[in-house]
Amino acid sequence: MPAPEARWYSTREDAHVRCQLCPRACLIPDGASGACRVRKNEGGRLYALTWGRFPALAIDPIEKKPLYHFFPGSDTLSLGSLGCNMHCLHCQNVSLSEPDIFALAHIEQTKTMPPEFIAPFARQHSVPTVVWTYNEPLVNAEYLVSALPLVQQAGLATVLVTAGLVSPEPLGEILPHLDAWRIDIKGWGDEFYQRLTGFPGWKTVLGNSLLAREAGCHIEVVTNLIDGWNDSPEDLAAIARWIARELGPETPWHVTASHPAAHLTSIRPTPPATILEARRIGLESGLKHVYCGNVDIPDGSDTVCPDCGAILIRRRGFAVLENRLTGSAACPDCGRRIIGRF
Ligand code: SF4
Repeated sequence: MPAPEARWYSTREDAHVRCQLCPRACLIPDGASGACRVRKNEGGRLYALTWGRFPALAIDPIEKKPLYHFFPGSDTLSLGSLGCNMHCLHCQNVSLSEPDIFALAHIEQTKTMPPEFIAPFARQHSVPTVVWTYNEPLVNAEYLVSALPLVQQAGLATVLVTAGLVSPEPLGEILPHLDAWRIDIKGWGDEFYQRLTGFPGWKTVLGNSLLAREAGCHIEVVTNLIDGWNDSPEDLAAIARWIARELGPETPWHVTASHPAAHLTSIRPTPPATILEARRIGLESGLKHVYCGNVDIPDGSDTVCPDCGAILIRRRGFAVLENRLTGSAACPDCGRRIIGRF
């Protein structure tokens, strides 16, 4: 099936198109693609090359996203495609986010999965959620706008694992049909975003997360700590305080370790001590649930009652060893409400 025409763009007289899906606002000459690599101008029309194409499709533990307060211990249908509108130097998934010409040529030959196929497929695998993940799902917003309502109508919950760089208009069509917004806050400030991702998208990411909160989405935040880049106590405290103040102190914050990858091969893997310090800063800043990720820290991924200290969900890696919140959102020992869907 040929790629469908994109939405959210305008065409100039010289057949250049201006994509308006995200704030990059790429001006794309005829025959070329935008910065995300998957939106292509052909003869003055913009096409969404990855519409319905999911080269990365898996049934994963939802803990892997990571989401710890959203159907914990369950499996999820994970759909991943190609392309990303951020170019993070340390990207841990670069073969999908920055596809080469061979990957792009290959994906154009693969079969598409129409939006109405997703829910039955998820049902077949008895999962309660469908997650768009692995690459940046928002570069394929046309598909999301079609698929998310159908998935919800089938009684399943919808999730985006995203870096959050998108324009208000498409986001406004997505949020009413989204149950969970798993957002990366990669660091503090537009200058940092410019240096790490190639675009000063920080304010947009924070603003879009506020819109997701207003739309009633469950939110979990990830900050992937890069040694010497975004792990100063000042920056970590700034992120944690913003989450607590703007998204709410109950919002889970995952501080995760990174390792040398992509264009940042000279960094050292994030030391466990840095992750522990980030957790301390997060809790001191008022957050109630701070998790340690990509590193083996005993109790680092357990869900603990903020009031009485009881362990509510015990985890090891992506596995849930014990879940005392099944079917209830309250601590069984003291009755305190725990944010999320259980
Ligand atoms: S979605 Fe892609 S093509 Fe469109 S403005 Fe953003 S990076 Fe450019």
